Amino acid sequence: MDKNKNILIKSGRIINLNKGKDDYSDILIIDGVITEINKEINGAGKNVTEIDAKGCIVSPGFVDMHVHLREPGFEDEETIETGTMAAVKGGVTTVACMANTKPVIDNQSLVKYILEKSRSASCRVLPVAAMTVGLEGKSITEMGLLSEAGAVGFSDDGMCVRDSRIMYEIMRYSNQFDVPLILHEEDYFISGSGLVNEGYYSTMLGLEGISSLSEDLIIERDITLAKKSGAKIHVTHLSTRGAVEMIERAKNEGVRITCDVTPHHLFFNDSYLTSFNTNFKVKPPIRSEEDRLALVEGIKKGVIDAIVSDHAPHLDIEKNTTFRLASFGTIGLETLFSAAFTRLCVEEKLDLHKFISLITTSPSKIIGINASEIKVGEVANITVLDTEKEEEVKKENIVSKSKNSVFIGHKLRGKVICTISRGSLVYRLNNL
Ligand SMILES: [Zn+2]
Ligand SMILES: [Zn+2]
Repeated sequence: MDKNKNILIKSGRIINLNKGKDDYSDILIIDGVITEINKEINGAGKNVTEIDAKGCIVSPGFVDMHVHLREPGFEDEETIETGTMAAVKGGVTTVACMANTKPVIDNQSLVKYILEKSRSASCRVLPVAAMTVGLEGKSITEMGLLSEAGAVGFSDDGMCVRDSRIMYEIMRYSNQFDVPLILHEEDYFISGSGLVNEGYYSTMLGLEGISSLSEDLIIERDITLAKKSGAKIHVTHLSTRGAVEMIERAKNEGVRITCDVTPHHLFFNDSYLTSFNTNFKVKPPIRSEEDRLALVEGIKKGVIDAIVSDHAPHLDIEKNTTFRLASFGTIGLETLFSAAFTRLCVEEKLDLHKFISLITTSPSKIIGINASEIKVGEVANITVLDTEKEEEVKKENIVSKSKNSVFIGHKLRGKVICTISRGSLVYRLNNL
């Protein structure tokens, strides 16, 4: 009997998003399957690993629908193995990985390769396939075949399709398969060689700016195209106030549009750039306090549907350089919960159920997968969290292969105590 598949979680507060009312109970998992949820389950003689969850929250495992695992092609930065280890340390049991690998995930064999690799990884990995061949923005991929092979969405993330006519064709084509298009919205004519948000701090620090127009113009374009084509679009990593406003309007008009935001865009504003820390160099850029507050408001109002890490690993040599030369991106899987929880629940008093839905049921629905539930008969995908624990993010504790976290040195509330993924205990906090 595998002890890692026989687990007893004692005395936790079990989040029930469906019922609305939480249970304070024990959970018995035998051979990976939840077999009993009850008060005072006795684990004696059952050969179980016991988890003391007193004072902790027991949540369905998190879903992060925007992650870069870098495999194949950039295994020095991250692999499916190390990326999923980082995921489960952050309580994430399902990740959707982006297509900008080398080669690009634009054919069935690569979709199958990712799914095959996922079987031995710490958590489930679902591939997002490219919208255009080689992310070149020219010819559309075989979306039907790719989605049959297991792609859960389509995205040229890292790139934006410049040609409006091709974008319109992608939307019309995607309609035949009812798959979500995950859109990185950037007008390259505006963003150009910009490094950070255009505003007071870019001027003061002498760093080339990226205007919010870069994002807003393309979102406006894609909303117009989605209206005309009826396509299902998902705008990823919102950064501007304009984006929130436009998407709210589009939703009210019945456009099939959803969107997400990252913890770093919720956590920071561009005043942090004064540190000249290149981990703050991300795309889209971290914007003004006004934009950040609009994102928080967008979550509260229900305009923003999900929180994603946009986990983007880069080597030290790509970051330990000047702002101009450094790569764009921050890792984020390990801090997905705690960073967003700190800002939204601790500071903004966002309802915990609402928050959990942004990293479980809501992204699941967008990519068309069944959300895990904590109920008898289900294979266990569970995260146990201590929401009182506060800790500083330290580089030496990062398990991701790349250490470029924008949160290093910042104190975050909420700590993952353990993660059970596909029925196995895959992560447990060392000091317990
Ligand atoms: Zn992107
Ligand atoms: Zn990305």
